[in-house]
Amino acid sequence: MHVCPCGYYNHPEKDCSCPPGAVQKYLSKVSGPLLDRIDLHVEVTPVNFDALASDRIAETSENIRERVMKAREIQSARFGNKPDLHANAQMSAQMVREVCKINAAGQNLLKKAMEKLGLSARAYDRILKVARTIADLAGCEEIQLEHLAEAIHFRSLDREGWAG
Ligand SMILES: [Zn+2]
Repeated sequence: MHVCPCGYYNHPEKDCSCPPGAVQKYLSKVSGPLLDRIDLHVEVTPVNFDALASDRIAETSENIRERVMKAREIQSARFGNKPDLHANAQMSAQMVREVCKINAAGQNLLKKAMEKLGLSARAYDRILKVARTIADLAGCEEIQLEHLAEAIHFRSLDREGWAG
């Protein structure tokens, strides 16, 4: 989606011509229950030619594939005895409590984020599931603070201060 009616909000080179408040109003049309159902909010800005043409070496698709396969295996093992459950995203709220345990520091971070971003119970569960997946991708048994922080980051469209 575009983030504003003119489409240039946050564009690195062009200016957004939307009047004050228009961006918030535009975003509010897709807020709440719909955004709650989307796991990852990622802001993408246009890529300029220099960046496209640069020979900077990114992680290869093969590497990423391997990491994803490993995370999938971890999740298969986790849900091995449950026939209709293969991935973290499919967990019930009950299962999230069992599987996505976080320490006191993590709980504190999440509590602050919930209050600051005004997150719903559904968004809370999403964050825990995504944090579990990020930990799986990193090959970590426990969800670390950094995994949680990254998962919270993916709720950017929930932020009250977004485009504010
Ligand atoms: Zn605009």
